Amino acid sequence: MKKSNDKKFPTFTGKKKEYFDVLMEAREMVVKQVKFHTDEALNYQKDSAGEKAGMATHMADLGSDNSRHDLELRLLTEEGNIVELIEEAIQRLESGEYGKCFDCSCEIPHERLKIKPYARFCTKCKSLREKNEGFTPD
Ligand SMILES: [Zn+2]
Repeated sequence: MKKSNDKKFPTFTGKKKEYFDVLMEAREMVVKQVKFHTDEALNYQKDSAGEKAGMATHMADLGSDNSRHDLELRLLTEEGNIVELIEEAIQRLESGEYGKCFDCSCEIPHERLKIKPYARFCTKCKSLREKNEGFTPD
């Protein structure tokens, strides 16, 4: 598998460093999850009857093995996107745009960024978009 943590990032200081650390931590977690799901998807291909002990807990409600496999693939895509979002966020840290809502340009609250460091919208704009199927409301 391709090693994905050989990327060079700039050195940040102060508050930026704080956010950078949170972002890197989140990135590492997602990369680990991607690896976990990749292994799981590969296991499925090798042995379609294989029910690994302890691994099916969060997918327990998902009927057939087929839908379980679909979910693995979907998770892989989502996690891949999060890695992208995190790397984008790091670029915004560099350019000084980090922490601004894409829609209303307000400062995204520190509390929200601590939980979701790659957030691109403030909670208000996020929920407006969710009500509008992910698009910017007029
Ligand atoms: Zn906003």
